[in-house]
Amino acid sequence: MSKPTASTSLETQAVHAGREVLHEQGIHAMPIDLSSTYPVQNLDEGGRSLEAMAMGGLPIGSPVYSRLYNPTVARYEQGLAQLEGAAECVAFGSGMAAVTACLMAAKQRGGHIVAVRPLYGGTDHLLASGMLGLEVSWAEADGIAAAIRPDTAMVIVETPANPTLAMVDLEDVVRQAGKVPVLVDNTFATPILQNPIKHGATLVLHSATKFLGGHGDVLAGLVATNNDWATELRKVRVITGNVLHPLAAYLLHRSLPTLPLRVRAQQDGAKIIAERLAKHPAVSAVHFPGLQGQDPKGLLGRQMKGPGSLMAFEVKGGFEAAAIVMAEVKLMTPAVSLGSVDTLIQHPAALTHRVVDAEAREHSGVSQSLMRLSVGLEGPEDLWADLEQALAKAMAGMAVGTSR
Ligand SMILES: *Cc1c(COP(=O)(O)O)cnc(C)c1O
Repeated sequence: MSKPTASTSLETQAVHAGREVLHEQGIHAMPIDLSSTYPVQNLDEGGRSLEAMAMGGLPIGSPVYSRLYNPTVARYEQGLAQLEGAAECVAFGSGMAAVTACLMAAKQRGGHIVAVRPLYGGTDHLLASGMLGLEVSWAEADGIAAAIRPDTAMVIVETPANPTLAMVDLEDVVRQAGKVPVLVDNTFATPILQNPIKHGATLVLHSATKFLGGHGDVLAGLVATNNDWATELRKVRVITGNVLHPLAAYLLHRSLPTLPLRVRAQQDGAKIIAERLAKHPAVSAVHFPGLQGQDPKGLLGRQMKGPGSLMAFEVKGGFEAAAIVMAEVKLMTPAVSLGSVDTLIQHPAALTHRVVDAEAREHSGVSQSLMRLSVGLEGPEDLWADLEQALAKAMAGMAVGTSR
């Protein structure tokens, strides 16, 4: 197996990335390295290796201890870095652990962060909590330049954003940020549909719990970035212990070859559902980048290869009607999270974005009637039938409500 090059297709990279070293060793299926410690026979060499890793570097000789380095995790990191077109990738125990590590690393460079809402509810909560001692300026996507200060250490954006699918123009964000590094949460798009580093981003974050895991059984977070930032992030990881378990890394790596297929098949189903929702009498709005008129900046094609498989939609009848839909779906699972092989539906205002400041939440479009849908691999007709019967019950429920 020769090393994939930049011209190797995404599909081939997804199958082989991070596995080259195994081919060299004559191993076919991936092993799981569960050892928590590693023999240190040569004290001088082992000590220097430990010191290198404590400073965020890679082992020079023995990995010494699994919080410092784990081969299973490292192989997956290499694979993901390749798919994102990044020099390196650093894995953490969850998406929020990855966000926290980025902010802690940023804090070494300055105390101020510029963030654009909407963001994932947990990220918003962490930034607003002040827990990490950072000052945050909330900006609109076109007001980033004005919010930058001499001590700004990072600009944080999400596109498409959770949960409204709002998209920002990354090249414009990077231009406004100037010398300040831009972190892009790429969880919704996946490396298959969008590679922010190509557009000038410095850090690309994934909650690998979502599409990268893809089967609803792993919690993980990843940051794809350059060598300098990867070194700082590994240093934070060694110090704070926010590591990814090798079993989780194994499951993620096992899911990587099917990522392009899953993302595209789920996207195909989502296109059908979004178009039908847009015509349904119980639905007042559908937010999906693939619908006509929903990509005014022309980002599909230029920045994103497709609209993805997430959408948000609002029903007539407010929270009550949305609660009926959530209660009546039978094939879809009413649950938070996204990007799994099965379809999940959730209510952001009540669940994932409950902790976000109420005014800011409404301002960024997370209304009481908004639901977020993550389309899985089921037959689109079956999904539509399920949604249609739940929407019918919501309409009937609201009609009963008004006649009371
Ligand atoms: C889920 C999610 C996160 C947080 O990831 P966890 O793995 O749940 O900690 C961050 N950003 C986005 C966009 C997410 O959807």
